[in-house]
Amino acid sequence: MSSAADLAFVNGDVYTVDAARSWARAVAVRDGAIAAVGTDDEIRDLIGDGTEVVDLAGRMLLPGFQDAHVHPVGGGVDMLQCDQHDLDTKDAYLGAIADYARTHPDESWILGGGWSQDVFPRGCPAKEDIDTVVSDRPVFLPNRDGHSAWVNSKALEIAGITADTPDPEDGRIERNPDGSPQGTLHEGAQTLVVQHMPALPPDTVYDGLLKGQAYLHSLGITGWQDAIVDDSDRYGNYQAYLTAAGRGTLTARVVGALWWERSRGLEQIEDLVALRAGGSAGRFAATSVKIMQDGVCENFTAATIDPYLDDHGHPTDNNGFSMVEPELLKEAVTRLDALGFQVHFHALADRAVREALDAIEVARSTNGFNDLRHHLAHIQIVHPDDLPRFRQLGALANAQPLWAAHEAQMDELTIPFLGEPRWTWQYPFASLVRHGATLVMGSDWSVSSPNPMEEMHVAVNRQMPADYTYRVDNRDVFLPDERIDLATSIAAFTMGSAYANHRDHDTGSIETGKRADLAVFDRNVFAHPTEEIASAQCLMTYVDGQQVYAAADA
Ligand SMILES: [Zn+2]
Repeated sequence: MSSAADLAFVNGDVYTVDAARSWARAVAVRDGAIAAVGTDDEIRDLIGDGTEVVDLAGRMLLPGFQDAHVHPVGGGVDMLQCDQHDLDTKDAYLGAIADYARTHPDESWILGGGWSQDVFPRGCPAKEDIDTVVSDRPVFLPNRDGHSAWVNSKALEIAGITADTPDPEDGRIERNPDGSPQGTLHEGAQTLVVQHMPALPPDTVYDGLLKGQAYLHSLGITGWQDAIVDDSDRYGNYQAYLTAAGRGTLTARVVGALWWERSRGLEQIEDLVALRAGGSAGRFAATSVKIMQDGVCENFTAATIDPYLDDHGHPTDNNGFSMVEPELLKEAVTRLDALGFQVHFHALADRAVREALDAIEVARSTNGFNDLRHHLAHIQIVHPDDLPRFRQLGALANAQPLWAAHEAQMDELTIPFLGEPRWTWQYPFASLVRHGATLVMGSDWSVSSPNPMEEMHVAVNRQMPADYTYRVDNRDVFLPDERIDLATSIAAFTMGSAYANHRDHDTGSIETGKRADLAVFDRNVFAHPTEEIASAQCLMTYVDGQQVYAAADA
């Protein structure tokens, strides 16, 4: 038989995520593409002597997941440095810092991070704590969302931060009552220290990329949009992707969102055009621009329409930051749109969401409608008036669903400071779908788990998975009207994110002619209670028909 398949999956529950959301039993792969989808009998006709046959034994085959907002290189580098992501007490954090310092005596700075704000009063750890374990070398540790950093006295000294140092325009130095720096730096205030840090060696960045890639493949992820790509000597993940593409080690499909520097203006567009021109190799293409329009709610830097409340529920005079001045944002987005860039916004609270939508609206009215698929990531607070605008403007809703649940950070650091009714506008996924928005999903790893099954678990249940005991005391369903079903969630994490990456024509579903980007899971998640979605385990992952992950026992 001339047309024998290279690879065949038989005897499984194949959820195709095609337009009809149809099911099949078997799939044949030839030359890295899906050659046929059908019944076992149909696919057996394509099995020849050289065909590798995977007996799914009733397990589930899905299109590979695509993560529409993730930081795999930083996540991978963190895994190689002082990693605090899996710890949850102050003592554990300090123990990790002490251990790392002891085992890495030659590193001039202690870097890494991943601590959680809810472990500390008001989310702000103190410099004195680190000083007790490391005082001779600077320590700089961003929290898990990267919006605040914990530093020791040495780092503050090197940066020259004292009681007299003013807050930068795009950030805040947390202070003691006497004005001296307390040890936590929010948002742009981190730059005061970061600018003194040595650049990461390119090899470390490259190793971080491969580490992150391997981890994402182990979760059934075959592609993503890297939400911050830059070519600075400090991170240089742009170069790491190109290196990996050149060496043939980039096994994931990646769209890079080039970083918009908010300290610069429209003149940087030239540089972005040049980076895009040089930024396509193998499975990597830097065709998007990331504009971070606000911060996060927990440190009151997310841009809100109405001010944050204080401890007593009274309005403060703080509405957070618009990182890019809204009129400049309109101009920037309009120019980027005219140049064929997709714009990927960090738009978290309601004013930032509105400013991003306003900017897209101006771009649309100036340049006409196009197919660039601008998207707004995080969308934590969406003013109800803005819900229909996603559909009207062709703006994608890029959701990080793991955050849409009651846990300490939500209950203690967010809800009290938003108040009624604003806290109920959070993560309005079902409302967005009802209003016709295209929903795409991502994790924002290393901010939170990149496991799509955990993300979708929360999208469906609006509760943290049962084995998440970490800072989760409140098991109430979080805004139950905003739950979406499993089919909608899977579509968002496959076809939806493929659409955001302009790869819906050849990935995102299991259909004849598409690339064979596939993930095998240990169970059909539709056949189990929704409370168990997060327990599903990825067994094997394929890109272009090549295996990129196999569980030890698969
Ligand atoms: Zn992010």
